[in-house]
Amino acid sequence: MPRVLDGVAIAAAIQQEVAGEVRALAGRGIRPGLAAVLVGSVAASEIYVRSKVQSCASLGIFSDLITRPETVTTAEMLDLIASLNARDEIDGILIQLPLPAQVDTKALLDAVSPAKDVDGFHPVNAGRLLAGRPSLAPCTPAGILEILQRSGIPIAGQHAVVVGRSDIVGKPAAMLLLHHNATVTICHSKTRDLGAMTRQADILVAAIGRAGFITTEMVKPGATIIDVGMNRITDPAEFARFFAGDARREAAFAKRGSVLVGDVHPKAFERAGAYTPVPGGVGPLTIAMLMANTVRAAKMRRGL
Ligand code: NDP
Repeated sequence: MPRVLDGVAIAAAIQQEVAGEVRALAGRGIRPGLAAVLVGSVAASEIYVRSKVQSCASLGIFSDLITRPETVTTAEMLDLIASLNARDEIDGILIQLPLPAQVDTKALLDAVSPAKDVDGFHPVNAGRLLAGRPSLAPCTPAGILEILQRSGIPIAGQHAVVVGRSDIVGKPAAMLLLHHNATVTICHSKTRDLGAMTRQADILVAAIGRAGFITTEMVKPGATIIDVGMNRITDPAEFARFFAGDARREAAFAKRGSVLVGDVHPKAFERAGAYTPVPGGVGPLTIAMLMANTVRAAKMRRGL
């Protein structure tokens, strides 16, 4: 039986450590603070932002939830970011993506002070990561590393294959694995014979955004699979393709009309040595690492 890498438990351990750091800072009169900017009313974004704000509250981190209407302009958002860059009680600035089409997302991400860039998306922080001098690394890739390390999965000398090359997940995950001495292959939509690549993976990271895309024959027996994908499926035929015969999921689907599936077909996990489930794998780590980055930013800004 493959080992399930429990992201909920690992995230809880990290949050406990972060809470300890917050208490230690409180003793010095410092309270880390996070500004979360939510634009419009995309249901998924609202859920993500609220859980981030709740996480702050449970750890003793100050948070300020700032909402702007769907019609906000780039200029208005740039003004907001400038004011957040200047506010001393704010250590981290989180802009929940995606933003409406009229807003220049890149311009906004570039406007966030690199010292407060807790998502690690600013080119300065991306460059530092590339140079092996990470200060604030993107949360999801940082979480992937925590899962591997805290689960005792060897990284050095292993062949890690990352499917996906986004700036948010694939590229930074590949960089972090490289800095931990994995031999790294990055695959994308133009990769020829993807299965031939993934079958070489001791560590397979799937960050594609396509439900159940990695199938059993694409997995090397005994590999560690990190499934980053979070795809909500509502079509009963698609549901059946993934989960027919899974009583627990059938009940959940009947009740909610949707379930989450990763980028790896659930059957493919059976060939793995270890894997992160969806949900309950990488997802919880993303918020835990955001909290860790906020505390880190608070310390770095004060030279601690
Ligand atoms: P993007 O859409 O930005 O990137 C997807 C990547 O997958 C691209 O590099 C694309 O290649 C590649 N790809 C698409 N189709 C194929 C294919 N047929 N073969 C090989 N590669 C392909 O997505 P993200 O990186 O932002 O997110 C990936 C997944 O992770 C999504 O499901 C997302 O929901 C999830 N996610 C989960 C998080 C969490 O906390 N658990 C956080 C962030 C994301 P190309 O560059 O050539 O187009």
